[in-house]
Amino acid sequence: MQLEVTESFFIAHATPSAGGTGKRVHGHYGHVTFRISGRMDVKTGMVEPASALQDVCHSTLMDFVKDQDANPQVIDLNAIAGIHPTMENFILFLQERLRPKYPGINISLYWWEESEYRVSTDG
Ligand SMILES: [Zn+2]
Repeated sequence: MQLEVTESFFIAHATPSAGGTGKRVHGHYGHVTFRISGRMDVKTGMVEPASALQDVCHSTLMDFVKDQDANPQVIDLNAIAGIHPTMENFILFLQERLRPKYPGINISLYWWEESEYRVSTDG
């Protein structure tokens, strides 16, 4: 079975390598989905309590929000040391962070422009 939790944040970044308007700082309203697989515990009837996964994923994302009282809450990918600030690198970074607790976690991120864009880890 699979359990998914989705969190939504405003994500800011500048991607000079993309060229065009992506060179300047801009933002996306991004939806980050965390997915774990596992067997259902017959005692609890759950793969894992959804609230436990939600707490871990939410707090992991909040680690990257500078102003926690801001509305909307903004994750600035350019402020994360050591990564090239693309959506792909961000979800790989999140996956590495969460692997000690959830070894098989998969993360996807999608956002809308004139089309829907989605990037996902492979597992
Ligand atoms: Zn962008």
